[in-house]
Amino acid sequence: MKKGCTFSLHEAWRAFIPHSPIVPWSKVVWFSRRIPKHIFCLWLTFRDGHKTLDKLCSWGVVQAASCAFGCGQEESIDHLFFACPFTTTIWNHFLAKCGFGRSCGGVVC
Ligand SMILES: [Zn+2]
Repeated sequence: MKKGCTFSLHEAWRAFIPHSPIVPWSKVVWFSRRIPKHIFCLWLTFRDGHKTLDKLCSWGVVQAASCAFGCGQEESIDHLFFACPFTTTIWNHFLAKCGFGRSCGGVVC
């Protein structure tokens, strides 16, 4: 801070904290009425941070990556959100409850 200038917490923050480029999905995750638990899950999804069984298996943490919902496929983030028949049923149920007339995963609700 230069002598004679007023102190600004915002400027101090910017001086000490390195800034990353703004990602295109930032407004989807960070908005005023967000629910922290949901936003954390969404943030992990965008950052590919969920520790799904396919990752744990590739790291040698677990021996098998079969989906925990018993569909017989490998558990991955894409599988859990878009391809698993069990989670697709759940997604479609809540989409219908929220008034969305579309379906996900090819299953019509
Ligand atoms: Zn599955």
